[in-house]
Amino acid sequence: MDSRTTTPAATWTQGTSASLPKRDVWQAMARGWRGRCPNCGEGKIFRAYLKVADNCSACGQDFTGHRADDLPAYLVIVLVGHIVVPIALWIETNYAPSMLLQLAVYLPITLISSLLLLQPVKGAVVGLQWAFRMHGFDENRPAGAEEGTIAQLTVVK
Ligand SMILES: [Zn+2]
Repeated sequence: MDSRTTTPAATWTQGTSASLPKRDVWQAMARGWRGRCPNCGEGKIFRAYLKVADNCSACGQDFTGHRADDLPAYLVIVLVGHIVVPIALWIETNYAPSMLLQLAVYLPITLISSLLLLQPVKGAVVGLQWAFRMHGFDENRPAGAEEGTIAQLTVVK
Protein backbone atom coordinates (compact mmCIF):
# COMPACT_ATOMS: atom_id res chain seq x y z
CA MET A 1 0.00 0.00 0.00
CA ASP A 2 1.23 3.43 -0.92
CA SER A 3 -0.18 6.84 -0.05
CA ARG A 4 0.36 9.89 -2.18
CA THR A 5 -0.39 13.55 -1.80
CA THR A 6 -2.51 15.10 -4.53
CA THR A 7 -2.51 18.78 -5.44
CA PRO A 8 -3.49 21.01 -2.52
CA ALA A 9 -7.22 21.66 -2.22
CA ALA A 10 -8.48 25.24 -2.04
CA THR A 11 -7.32 26.64 1.28
CA TRP A 12 -10.00 28.68 2.95
CA THR A 13 -9.25 31.42 5.47
CA GLN A 14 -11.63 33.74 7.23
CA GLY A 15 -10.50 36.89 5.44
CA THR A 16 -13.04 36.25 2.71
CA SER A 17 -15.95 37.42 4.90
CA ALA A 18 -14.61 40.96 5.39
CA SER A 19 -17.14 42.44 2.95
CA LEU A 20 -20.21 41.09 4.79
CA PRO A 21 -22.08 43.32 7.32
CA LYS A 22 -20.93 43.16 10.94
CA ARG A 23 -23.06 41.24 13.41
CA ASP A 24 -23.76 42.30 17.00
CA VAL A 25 -21.54 39.96 19.04
CA TRP A 26 -23.02 40.73 22.48
CA GLN A 27 -26.59 40.42 21.25
CA ALA A 28 -25.78 37.11 19.55
CA MET A 29 -24.08 35.79 22.71
CA ALA A 30 -26.96 36.96 24.93
CA ARG A 31 -29.47 35.25 22.67
CA GLY A 32 -27.38 32.09 22.67
CA TRP A 33 -27.10 32.28 26.48
CA ARG A 34 -30.91 32.22 26.67
CA GLY A 35 -31.02 29.25 24.27
CA ARG A 36 -32.36 31.39 21.42
CA CYS A 37 -31.19 31.67 17.84
CA PRO A 38 -28.40 34.27 17.56
CA ASN A 39 -29.86 35.48 14.24
CA CYS A 40 -33.54 36.13 15.11
CA GLY A 41 -33.71 35.66 18.90
CA GLU A 42 -36.96 33.70 18.53
CA GLY A 43 -36.26 30.10 17.56
CA LYS A 44 -34.53 27.59 19.82
CA ILE A 45 -30.85 26.81 19.38
CA PHE A 46 -30.93 23.46 21.24
CA ARG A 47 -32.97 20.38 20.42
CA ALA A 48 -31.79 18.63 23.60
CA TYR A 49 -29.75 19.60 26.69
CA LEU A 50 -26.47 20.10 24.79
CA LYS A 51 -27.52 19.08 21.26
CA VAL A 52 -27.53 22.07 18.94
CA ALA A 53 -30.44 21.96 16.49
CA ASP A 54 -29.69 21.73 12.77
CA ASN A 55 -31.77 24.80 11.94
CA CYS A 56 -33.58 27.61 13.72
CA SER A 57 -37.31 26.80 13.98
CA ALA A 58 -38.23 30.47 13.38
CA CYS A 59 -35.84 31.88 10.76
CA GLY A 60 -34.20 28.73 9.39
CA GLN A 61 -30.64 29.77 10.33
CA ASP A 62 -28.32 26.80 9.77
CA PHE A 63 -26.52 25.81 12.99
CA THR A 64 -24.62 22.81 11.63
CA GLY A 65 -21.51 24.95 11.05
CA HIS A 66 -20.83 25.58 14.73
CA ARG A 67 -17.65 24.20 16.32
CA ALA A 68 -18.21 24.73 20.03
CA ASP A 69 -16.27 21.54 20.82
CA ASP A 70 -14.77 21.62 24.33
CA LEU A 71 -14.80 25.39 24.82
CA PRO A 72 -18.08 25.49 26.82
CA ALA A 73 -16.73 22.86 29.22
CA TYR A 74 -13.44 24.76 29.69
CA LEU A 75 -15.31 28.01 30.33
CA VAL A 76 -17.64 26.33 32.84
CA ILE A 77 -14.62 24.88 34.70
CA VAL A 78 -13.07 28.35 34.85
CA LEU A 79 -16.31 30.01 35.98
CA VAL A 80 -17.31 27.46 38.61
CA GLY A 81 -13.73 27.07 39.82
CA HIS A 82 -13.38 30.80 40.38
CA ILE A 83 -16.61 30.86 42.40
CA VAL A 84 -16.39 27.67 44.48
CA VAL A 85 -12.65 27.57 45.28
CA PRO A 86 -12.35 31.08 46.84
CA ILE A 87 -15.49 30.46 48.91
CA ALA A 88 -14.15 27.08 50.07
CA LEU A 89 -10.78 28.61 50.98
CA TRP A 90 -12.39 31.48 52.85
CA ILE A 91 -14.68 29.17 54.83
CA GLU A 92 -11.78 26.80 55.60
CA THR A 93 -9.58 29.69 56.78
CA ASN A 94 -12.22 31.29 58.98
CA TYR A 95 -14.36 28.38 60.23
CA ALA A 96 -12.53 25.13 59.39
CA PRO A 97 -15.64 22.91 59.32
CA SER A 98 -15.19 19.12 59.09
CA MET A 99 -13.96 17.72 55.78
CA LEU A 100 -17.09 15.58 55.44
CA LEU A 101 -19.35 18.61 55.78
CA GLN A 102 -17.31 20.54 53.23
CA LEU A 103 -17.45 17.70 50.70
CA ALA A 104 -21.20 17.30 51.29
CA VAL A 105 -21.68 20.98 50.40
CA TYR A 106 -19.06 21.77 47.75
CA LEU A 107 -19.39 18.67 45.56
CA PRO A 108 -23.16 19.05 44.91
CA ILE A 109 -22.78 22.82 44.44
CA THR A 110 -19.99 22.26 41.91
CA LEU A 111 -21.92 19.56 40.05
CA ILE A 112 -25.25 21.39 39.93
CA SER A 113 -23.81 24.78 38.97
CA SER A 114 -21.72 23.15 36.22
CA LEU A 115 -24.76 21.39 34.79
CA LEU A 116 -26.81 24.59 34.97
CA LEU A 117 -24.11 26.66 33.24
CA LEU A 118 -23.18 24.27 30.43
CA GLN A 119 -26.17 24.95 28.18
CA PRO A 120 -26.13 28.78 28.43
CA VAL A 121 -22.36 28.89 27.95
CA LYS A 122 -22.57 26.61 24.92
CA GLY A 123 -25.36 28.75 23.47
CA ALA A 124 -23.22 31.87 23.97
CA VAL A 125 -20.25 30.17 22.27
CA VAL A 126 -22.39 29.25 19.26
CA GLY A 127 -23.72 32.83 19.20
CA LEU A 128 -20.15 34.15 19.25
CA GLN A 129 -19.12 31.90 16.37
CA TRP A 130 -22.21 32.96 14.41
CA ALA A 131 -21.53 36.68 15.02
CA PHE A 132 -17.90 36.39 13.85
CA ARG A 133 -18.89 34.09 10.95
CA MET A 134 -16.46 31.51 12.27
CA HIS A 135 -16.20 27.98 10.93
CA GLY A 136 -19.36 26.96 9.03
CA PHE A 137 -21.14 30.29 9.61
CA ASP A 138 -19.23 32.03 6.80
CA GLU A 139 -21.54 32.48 3.78
CA ASN A 140 -18.50 33.07 1.53
CA ARG A 141 -16.95 29.73 2.38
CA PRO A 142 -16.31 27.80 -0.84
CA ALA A 143 -18.37 24.62 -1.08
CA GLY A 144 -16.49 21.60 0.19
CA ALA A 145 -13.52 23.58 1.51
CA GLU A 146 -12.52 22.56 4.99
CA GLU A 147 -11.07 25.25 7.22
CA GLY A 148 -7.29 24.98 7.29
CA THR A 149 -7.19 22.36 4.57
CA ILE A 150 -3.65 22.01 3.26
CA ALA A 151 -3.81 18.92 1.11
CA GLN A 152 -6.06 15.99 0.48
CA LEU A 153 -4.54 12.56 1.00
CA THR A 154 -5.51 9.85 -1.41
CA VAL A 155 -4.64 6.27 -0.61
CA VAL A 156 -3.51 4.38 -3.70
CA LYS A 157 -3.77 0.62 -3.40
ZN1 LIG B 1 -33.59 32.15 14.07
